[in-house]
Amino acid sequence: MITLDKDIKDLKILISEDEIQKRLTDLAENIEKEFSSEEDLYVICVLKGSVMFYTDLVKHLKHNVQMEFIRISSYGHETKSTNNLQAIDLTLPNLNGKNVLIVEDIIDTGLTANFLVDLFRIQHHPKKLVFAALLNKKCARQNNMEPDFYGFEIDDKFVVGYGLDYKGYFRNLPYIGYFPN
Ligand code: 5GP
Repeated sequence: MITLDKDIKDLKILISEDEIQKRLTDLAENIEKEFSSEEDLYVICVLKGSVMFYTDLVKHLKHNVQMEFIRISSYGHETKSTNNLQAIDLTLPNLNGKNVLIVEDIIDTGLTANFLVDLFRIQHHPKKLVFAALLNKKCARQNNMEPDFYGFEIDDKFVVGYGLDYKGYFRNLPYIGYFPN
């Protein structure tokens, strides 16, 4: 166990469990309309941060879903984006001509999203590629990346919970919170 400089007692709820769950239903309905129900849908979980959003979202999708997982690290132990993207595991099946939905936890600077979209377009040639993120920190963007779908727009705060961590902790919380300064 590491010594943590943030205490859960100080955490303020930004988006409650109930708000997240309600938003997911609408989001899934809108995402579904993008894809033909006759074709398989490959849904990509970008570990570790999107794990909660991903597992809740796929439960709402009525397509024939293939669940795939990749792992990328971009924050390390910082609370600001380090612009230091590390691809840990990008193993995927052949997605040539397939319908693909990338599921991310949050778009902050947009660098990870940009990397992922380029990677899928160049290496996998999907028939259709849609990018969904639970959170959109528009004010922190360093490029013109925009998710096709997102759950909530948030201010430039470092958030934790519902998959998002600080030094590996707080991912298991069912809500999104932040530590006020
Ligand atoms: P970007 O490349 O858009 O700057 O950042 C994307 C990644 O940084 C996200 O997938 C997430 O892992 C991490 N990240 C960005 N903002 C936050 C935040 O507020 N809290 C946490 N825990 N991670 C974040």
